[in-house]
Amino acid sequence: MNFRGRLLSSLIVISILTSCISIAEVRPTSIPLPTNTAAPIITPLPTERTEPEQAVEHPNNTISYNITAEMKYDAKTILVEEEINFTNGTGIKLEDILLVVPPNAIPGTFELIQVFVNKSNHDGFELDGERLLIKGLALPNSDQIQLGVRFKLTLPEITQGDPKIERPKIFGVTDQQVNLTDWYAMVVPYDAKEGWLLHNAGFYGEHLVYPVSNINLKFIFTETENIPTIASSTQPEMVDATYTYSFPNSRDFVLSMGRTMQVASGDADGIAVHSYYFMPYKTGGEAVLKTTIESIQLYTKLFGPIDRRSVSAVQGDFDDGMEFDGLYYLSESFYNLYDGNPNQYLILVAAHETCHQWWFASVANDQAIHPWMDESLSTYCEKLYYENYYPELVDWWWFTRINFYEPSGFIDQDIFTYQGFTPYTNATYRQGAKFLEELRVLIGDEAFFVFLRQYGSEMGGKIATPEDFFRILRANTNADLTSLISNYFQGSY
Ligand SMILES: [Zn+2]
Repeated sequence: MNFRGRLLSSLIVISILTSCISIAEVRPTSIPLPTNTAAPIITPLPTERTEPEQAVEHPNNTISYNITAEMKYDAKTILVEEEINFTNGTGIKLEDILLVVPPNAIPGTFELIQVFVNKSNHDGFELDGERLLIKGLALPNSDQIQLGVRFKLTLPEITQGDPKIERPKIFGVTDQQVNLTDWYAMVVPYDAKEGWLLHNAGFYGEHLVYPVSNINLKFIFTETENIPTIASSTQPEMVDATYTYSFPNSRDFVLSMGRTMQVASGDADGIAVHSYYFMPYKTGGEAVLKTTIESIQLYTKLFGPIDRRSVSAVQGDFDDGMEFDGLYYLSESFYNLYDGNPNQYLILVAAHETCHQWWFASVANDQAIHPWMDESLSTYCEKLYYENYYPELVDWWWFTRINFYEPSGFIDQDIFTYQGFTPYTNATYRQGAKFLEELRVLIGDEAFFVFLRQYGSEMGGKIATPEDFFRILRANTNADLTSLISNYFQGSY
């Protein structure tokens, strides 16, 4: 019996889900326990920064949403009045604007009532699945237009099938939770070569690309009694049953609510941190709060600050984890497995999802075409978390999270090219973390973290490409990257 065979014989197969992904994985049961939970900060901090080179040109549209949503909580319906103020920064005259309305991909969920342009009824549109194309606009470059969309959501029941053959769902209603994710009409990015950028959904990975926007939301419960506990992308102002949110320079706006949700709260250097959990999982909920606070403190030192008032972690009433701006979900199964020790998926995935506030929310990427750009960095953040807070667990992390899977494959393919979920995560998550570790060793800690800080500050609020990543990297090192890139990347950069 080879090593892997002996190893497998000593494993149990448990259905756990890792961040942003949704399939059963295999995990060793005999995990070495920590002997020391002191939290030394051993990663050197950047001491200086180099000036950025000329940035790649990105279309500079400005987008703001004013949304009023009236929810009948018990009926699980929401009437939405949405205004989108859009300034054309594409450099060309736009004949149409493409919105994505993810709820319309679910039968019986989305009912379009009316489309407006500059407050007048507008019949020139096409609605096809997620795509809502507003036509006949003739919008010159630099001009502003106001689009309006009025619609009703009838929230779907979330029923999870076999995770091996069916993608887990988050948007909708479970026994204990209502999740509003990607629930309103959003302008998709405009690419100078490709035009409006909206990929088809894949079985695994994410497919939406979020241009930065300003979001103002008034969320009203029509029944003022028995209002649920609400987790959201930022903190509201509350008057009776009306919750008013302002979320500038953001990617999306998420709400999660439930009458049995509990919350533990803390502070990370001025950022309010909330951990929402269900009653039997208080220990896990508090551990997630602690890990999220520690992660924010660490990543702020390493990568620079994020412009957020709060970050919320939410126990999903489902088995999937997912990052959004200002809020992330953790799979319920991680809470079930949590035994109070730091060598647990609950902890490492909390460190991972928190990191997406830097690499996804602040610096965005095309998640369908370049999924490695946020996933490799967020996976490597898990290592940074253990390195700084539980250095005795770094070897455990490399084995359990990365090397056990014997990852292979180029990391720079799109979500449609990888032949299945495991090759996808092995490449973009695990090979991605190995690439970053080798890069750090090659160029040294100082250059590595100065590079990441500069990448974060220069690309914050933008959608980064691999060319941006390597351009800013090369501005911070003279090391020969040739063999490292050829080992991990299919493309040349
Ligand atoms: Zn992730």
